[in-house]
Amino acid sequence: NPILLWFRKDLRLDDNHALQSAATSSRPLIPVYIREPGVTERGPLGGAQEWWLHYSLAALQIALDAVGSKLILRHGEALTVLEKLVKETGAEAVVWNRRYDPAGVEVDTQIKKALRSKGIEANSFAGQLLHEPTRLRTGTGNHYKTYTPFWRAFEQSGEPPFPIEAPRRLLAPGRWPQSDSLDAWSLLPAKPNWASEFADIWTPGEAAALDKLKDFVDGALNDYAIGRDFPDKPATSLLSPHLALGEISPARMWHATRGLPDKVGTDNVVRFRKEIIWREFCYHQLFHFPKLRTANWNDRYDDFPWLSDAKRLKSWQRGQTGYPIVDAGMRQLWRHGWMHNRVRMIAASFLIKDLLIDWREGEAWFRDTLVDADPAANTANWQWVAGSGADASPFFRIFNPVLQGEKFDPDGGYVRTFVPELSKLDSKYIHRPFEAPDDVLKRAGIELGRHYPRPIVDHAMARQRALAAHASLKDDG
Ligand code: FAD
Repeated sequence: NPILLWFRKDLRLDDNHALQSAATSSRPLIPVYIREPGVTERGPLGGAQEWWLHYSLAALQIALDAVGSKLILRHGEALTVLEKLVKETGAEAVVWNRRYDPAGVEVDTQIKKALRSKGIEANSFAGQLLHEPTRLRTGTGNHYKTYTPFWRAFEQSGEPPFPIEAPRRLLAPGRWPQSDSLDAWSLLPAKPNWASEFADIWTPGEAAALDKLKDFVDGALNDYAIGRDFPDKPATSLLSPHLALGEISPARMWHATRGLPDKVGTDNVVRFRKEIIWREFCYHQLFHFPKLRTANWNDRYDDFPWLSDAKRLKSWQRGQTGYPIVDAGMRQLWRHGWMHNRVRMIAASFLIKDLLIDWREGEAWFRDTLVDADPAANTANWQWVAGSGADASPFFRIFNPVLQGEKFDPDGGYVRTFVPELSKLDSKYIHRPFEAPDDVLKRAGIELGRHYPRPIVDHAMARQRALAAHASLKDDG
């Protein structure tokens, strides 16, 4: 009798433990992806990621066809769908890879129990992370609350498991169950097509992810430790959206850098690995504090006097704040579904500290617009910037958007790409157009307030206001 392989955020054949176990069971395999209602509405999958999901599922269908299998698409509550499929196909077992977001964990626990109570085998496997979030513990048996000891514990725990190769052939059932049509799921945006540029930038799917990893390791990794902070340089891996839907495993990424330090420099390899471990640390936080998306990790921030300011929130979302580096980042996000990490920090700091808008507003916007939206990395990073998170950046570290722009985009190349109305502005003023003399603006064809906004807030005033708001909080402990 067949075995059902339930795909979720692990849309790959490579290094897929559930797949491996099913493939070696010598039972016919029925791969299924279920569009769960909680995951498709206002849950973790936003609009941009649905675009990605469409193409990722299409790529998975092709990859499965190539090994003699198929992908069955169904929609509905996962347990109901799985039970129906078990009945239709006579399957005796269901396998999947574990997920670690709170809603997912809850659903999975119930499903496992319900299936087993009916005599159906149900097994789950690791693979979304390098280590299960329960594995690394402090000396006192607690989970880690700071990154550096977490990283050290990780280093001392030995090499993470080696990735396993994709199976070459899968055993097909005698009869395939019926499948939904991917197009009928309407994951792609209707009019207006706000994702029109995505396909120029991205190729979803496992094959593209593995190619990208290879290109990165052979190229950009050579300059990663320094280059990763400059948004105008192609110095990072751009693998985050692939990781977010599990088209590539972190173990595959980790081990791709084995033996490389001599070639590309230890700094570059260690720095890259440290970022992969930041992702693990975010999941560690989410797993041990399931309310991470809605509640402050540090409850001292619960009384923070946030401002409710729909107009400025909209200016920030649309990239119309009058601070070029922030606007470039927010427009990159809208156009490409992705934003460079350095600029994510600057844009997030601007929303939280210059506009005093609740970090949860920013998290929600990113969740809807990022192709790499991740329930752990997004929330943990927003809380990191807000100062309320685990091992967070201190609140008083308030980025000056002009100085950050000048430091990390010194020639203004990034701003010119995403804020084209400033493209002819002298480099000296590219990050501070509001200080440019009239003749300089005129030469660049810019009338402030008409072609490009004046700053929606004065940074020096905003900084003082943020510090005062923070000082109003009760002290820790
Ligand atoms: P690389 O520099 O090549 O890094 C390799 C991998 O390491 C990334 O793909 C990612 O999985 C991981 N990584 C790198 N930096 C971080 C980090 N700070 N935290 C956790 N993991 C990290 N990342 C997401 O994947 N999804 C999100 O929803 C997300 N939201 C963010 C929100 C804010 C406010 C900030 C400041 C950062 C956020 N990040 C998020 C982290 C980071 O910006 C992205 O992971 C990174 O920009 C992805 O680009 P890359 O793959 O080229 O990264």
